[in-house]
Amino acid sequence: MTAFAYTSYVTVTCAGEVSAMAKLSIIVAPDPRLKRQAEPVARVDREVRRLMDGMLEAMYEANGIGLAAPQVGALKRVLVADVSQPEEPAKPMRMANPEVVWHSEDLASGEEGCLSLPDHFGEVIRPRAVRVRFRDEDDVVQEIEADGLLAKCIQHEIDHLEGVLFVDHLSALKRGIILRKLSKQKKLLATG
Ligand SMILES: [Zn+2]
Repeated sequence: MTAFAYTSYVTVTCAGEVSAMAKLSIIVAPDPRLKRQAEPVARVDREVRRLMDGMLEAMYEANGIGLAAPQVGALKRVLVADVSQPEEPAKPMRMANPEVVWHSEDLASGEEGCLSLPDHFGEVIRPRAVRVRFRDEDDVVQEIEADGLLAKCIQHEIDHLEGVLFVDHLSALKRGIILRKLSKQKKLLATG
């Protein structure tokens, strides 16, 4: 099981400005905050960039390949991903207001997990390839075509921005089993 520590640190800029930023912790399902629709960002400014960097840090710490802002309690249309292999150099991606502007007709089935549903996996069918438009960390509109793991990851993260979890693609029976187990675990943790 994954535990997320909640610590804070202080950054001091050269202008003498002091800003405290809490290390982001990942919300575990079931939680109403994971079921809400996220709001688009007006532009990618320093605050959004800081959120993206904090999310990447939390994602790497939890050994994840993608993370959406609602998972850290920010209802913004922001996601980060890095699907590079461990032996490859890191390839962090930061996206604001991502939208699928095209998807392939052919579908791919693959096992998915989620940092908000630790230790649970399920088979999800999605379009094999997608073209995604988004604003990058410099507020520049970009478009990329993705297939394979990246396509799956981006679609999974965009689902989070709509309040949709991968278990929502499974049968009600499988979803119920996973959510009940997580709910039990949370109660156990809460009572120590
Ligand atoms: Zn997820």
